[in-house]
Amino acid sequence: MHSITLKAALALLGATSVAASFANNRLCLKLLAQGVEVDLPTTSDYETEQINYWSTACSSLRPDCIIAPKNAQDMARAVAAIRESNTTRFAIKSGGHSPNTLFSSIEDGVLISTRNLKQITYNEQSQTAVLGPGLKWEEAVGGLKDKGQVVVGGRLGGIGVGGLLLGGGLSFLSSQYGWAANNVVNFEVVLANATIVNANATSNPDLYAVMKGGSGNFGIVTAFTVKTHPQDPEIWGGTMFYSGNYSHELTQAIRDFAEYNTDDKASIIGTINRNPSLLWVIFLTYNGPTPPDDVFRNFTQVPAIRNLTKKQSYHSLMLANDQFITHGKRFAIGAETSVHPTGPNGPAVFQSFIDHWNNITDSLTSVPGMASSLALQPLPRSITTKAKESGGDVVGFDPKYDYMLLQIAVSYNNSASDSIVEDGARRYYTGQRQMIDQFTQEGKLPSAYTPLYLNDLNACQDFWGRISQATRDKALAVRRAVDPKQFFQKRATGGFHLG
Ligand SMILES: Cc1cc2nc3c(=O)[nH]c(=O)nc-3n(C[C@H](O)[C@H](O)[C@H](O)COP(=O)(O)OP(=O)(O)OC[C@H]3O[C@@H](n4cnc5c(N)ncnc54)[C@H](O)[C@@H]3O)c2cc1C
Repeated sequence: MHSITLKAALALLGATSVAASFANNRLCLKLLAQGVEVDLPTTSDYETEQINYWSTACSSLRPDCIIAPKNAQDMARAVAAIRESNTTRFAIKSGGHSPNTLFSSIEDGVLISTRNLKQITYNEQSQTAVLGPGLKWEEAVGGLKDKGQVVVGGRLGGIGVGGLLLGGGLSFLSSQYGWAANNVVNFEVVLANATIVNANATSNPDLYAVMKGGSGNFGIVTAFTVKTHPQDPEIWGGTMFYSGNYSHELTQAIRDFAEYNTDDKASIIGTINRNPSLLWVIFLTYNGPTPPDDVFRNFTQVPAIRNLTKKQSYHSLMLANDQFITHGKRFAIGAETSVHPTGPNGPAVFQSFIDHWNNITDSLTSVPGMASSLALQPLPRSITTKAKESGGDVVGFDPKYDYMLLQIAVSYNNSASDSIVEDGARRYYTGQRQMIDQFTQEGKLPSAYTPLYLNDLNACQDFWGRISQATRDKALAVRRAVDPKQFFQKRATGGFHLG
């Protein structure tokens, strides 16, 4: 494909839909002529890229072409060409795991794929690694395994480095080292004016501060330099599956773990799934070869249908976790944040969160191929304390509290069900917020700053509206300085735009 001639390219573009915009086609050909890798519709590289999304709703969108820069200079050429075209809209893709359509997928515009930016360069002296945004986390972690080092990133191997790092990044290692974004020491970024800059503690520090969790509002990242940490060759972890008969015990186990665990090496993701029967899938990880006896006892003492926990490398844990995720479906997601419910009312409040998800799921059972899950993700103060100590981030959770991140994910078969499922996701997160507000008014939850976690949100949720005014103002000031004409706000189709 890379050696395609302009004549062949024109023939391929001629075969695309009449709706394909003339301006976009011209831009694609211009970049091709400049030596930038460009996939045109119907080529095998184009189709391979299109398959590589978590949600088939994203795969079904058809960009006019896919630009695949090989370095920051190529990326700058792409940005300059898009700017010049005046009308072209674009999306940026790393791992393609966001199920929100138009975030990293696009119809009738151009897609910028970071798939050729897969560099992994380890610097032993500074204990850092340069990671390309085209890497998946399993590649990043696998690439550093032989060095005895690990990077803080996704808990499932198939997630992209780019989206996760720019949105925050909750890792099994976060209680030890903070959000993944807190571990970034430098962003190499292509700005709206097509210049390539570095953002770090000393160079462009304001930009650096707001890129830690501020997503793609400020530019396109072509390389992340992240801290590495020494890693045991073997850790303990894996997945446990339980029938719905043990819902009471598991609800209690997750709530208690989030309240009482003090071991920063231990972390969990609790998920409850209906497809159509109830199944609990709990991801347990201990970042050491053997967990102390009592850390996960509340889970290990409940009879499991399947227990896949074992000693293994961190890399193999990430690969294994990916196997228990649904693929090949359309997805709708939505999320809320609560202070973790504790005290005498804690168990009932926590149970009502699960009941709310169950009620929403009941209302969707007629949707063909529907499966619904609720992820219960503890966000202990150990994470947010480390986040603050390392210089903070956009989301800025208050380390005075332990939080619980709640996320619904509904998978289904057909586009005909898009509106009913999206409505279900919306009813989930709006209803969840109302419950939290009500509990707060009743004194069952403390009145606290509860921002939303960007990477788990539905596209319709107001990420920036829940960020503290001071941080939002700071982010807006940086956006005005680096992108005064709102190139990324107006021309990039996806992400949580700042305005
Ligand atoms: C199965 C599953 C498991 C998950 N597990 C976790 C988890 O353990 N921890 C966690 O924190 N999150 C998790 N998430 C959420 C995940 O972090 C987000 O979906 C994230 O956006 C995925 O990153 P990506 O690169 O694959 O996404 P993409 O869909 O490629 O991109 C997401 C967004 O980031 C933007 N973007 C990507 N790369 C760049 C770049 N180089 N420059 C500028 N903008 C860019 C895109 O334009 C898009 O708006 C999970 C999601 C799924 C579906």
